[in-house]
Formats: sequence, structure tokens, C-alpha cells
Amino acid sequence: MTALKLENVNKSFGSVHVLKDINLTVEEGEFVVFVGPSGCGKSTLLRVIAGLEDATSGTITIGNEVVNTVPPAKRGIAMVFQSYALYPHLTVKDNMALGLKQEGQPKSIVQERVTSASRMLDLDQYLTRRPAELSGGQRQRVAIGRAIVRDPKLFLFDEPLSNLDAALRMNTRVEIAALHRTLSASMIYVTHDQIEAMTLADKIVVLRDGRIEQVGSPMELYNNPANRFVAGFLGSPS
Ligand code: ADP
Ligand code: MG
Repeated sequence: MTALKLENVNKSFGSVHVLKDINLTVEEGEFVVFVGPSGCGKSTLLRVIAGLEDATSGTITIGNEVVNTVPPAKRGIAMVFQSYALYPHLTVKDNMALGLKQEGQPKSIVQERVTSASRMLDLDQYLTRRPAELSGGQRQRVAIGRAIVRDPKLFLFDEPLSNLDAALRMNTRVEIAALHRTLSASMIYVTHDQIEAMTLADKIVVLRDGRIEQVGSPMELYNNPANRFVAGFLGSPS
């Protein structure tokens, strides 16, 4: 089944046309990576999918449902940001549980999901700490945990590792790949990092100035880039 379908999606801010006729399909369980230069519209595209911004035109379908007018909390999506966006006054456990409590989930479900996610992410010893008492990598794992507990069909990651140092980036990348296998959810992942793109993606989407320049598997794009721009992004010689 198709997890996400974008048809002729456009987004303008006033007179600035940021997303231009985006057509894209994400299959269930697929790991899709968006790459492209700063300002090309990657974050805006994630925000439009999540419902944090309205599309100016076009159709967004998640599963079988057109979601253009569906509020973010009802889209079955969880988003993880570069900046973590944790609540400083809440413990790790309460940061992870907050979304579920707001959804009105019973205590037993909240407890069970938080326990399971914190085991998956090696956070079980940190549940009573506050964000200020954690390392950057641990904070990002809490942000990922907060997404996992909601059991979304589709995860959106906006450059989640770009605040981490190189070693931690590699560890966390491996963890995200393992999570993708465990959860068998669809994931869309924005990155600047060519290695992240090549190692994580089933499918890479290259964006340039608000348009999709090329879509393909890492090897397809590496061996057969449509142009120098794509080649430049993926490090192939042509
Ligand atoms: P990326 O994530 O690829 O770096 P963004 O999606 O953040 O790019 O931004 C794409 C373009 O849209 C940029 O020119 C940015 O200035 C513009 N933009 C993003 N959000 C807004 C907004 N809320 N209002 C006006 N312009 C915006
Ligand atoms: Mg961005």
C-alpha cells in the first residue's frame, strides 16, 4: 500500500513560490531521504506533509485519506526536529508521554509505550532526568522516543543529527536504521549528509529550488545522475 502520495503540491508564502508541482509517492515501509541545498524547500515540504503549513494547491494523501484539511495531530505522522524541541521542565518520561496524554490515551498504554520506546533507545536509566541533564545525543533520542510512542504510520525527520558530533552522528544513524527495521513504518528523512543519504535511503529525492530534480535508489542516482547538480550532491564523478 501507498503510505503517502503528493500530487501537484505547491506552496507559496505571499509572492514567494517555495514548492513547485511536487509529485511523489512513498510506499509503506519505505525509507525516503530528501537532499538539496539550503533554502530549496525541504523543511517546508515536511511541514506541508505534517500539516504544520497548508499547501497552496495540490493533494496530499496519507494511506487512503486525503488529508489537506486534516489537522496535524490526526494525520498519523510524527516529526523529529533538529532542535529536539523538548520541554525543559519535564522529565524524559513526561516529555515522551505528553503527546499520548494529550491524545487521551489510558495510563496503562502510556506507561507501556514509554517503557518500550525507552528500552529501544537505551533511555531506561534516564527517565527521571530533565533535558538539561542529558547529552545532545540523549536529547535527540528522547525526541525520537516521543515520536515512536505515538506509533505513527509515517515519521518525518528534519536533519535530526546535524547538531551532533561525527561519532554520535554515526551511532544515531545506525540506531535509526535499526528502528526502521523494527517498526516497519515509513520514514522521510532530510539530510545534508551524503553518507546518511546513501546508507539510509531506499529512495533519494533530490530537490532544487522547490522542484524535484530526480528520484531514485542511491545506486541509480550514483550511477546515473540526471545532471551535474545531482551528481554533485551524491559525490559521483560525472
Ligand atoms: P530548506 O529546509 O531546504 O533549507 P526551507 O523549506 O526552510 O528550506 O525554506 C525554503 C524557502 O522558503 C526559503 O526561501 C525560505 O526563506 C522560505 N520560507 C520558509 N518558511 C517561510 C515562511 N514561514 N515565510 C516565508 N518564507 C518562508
Ligand atoms: Mg530545513
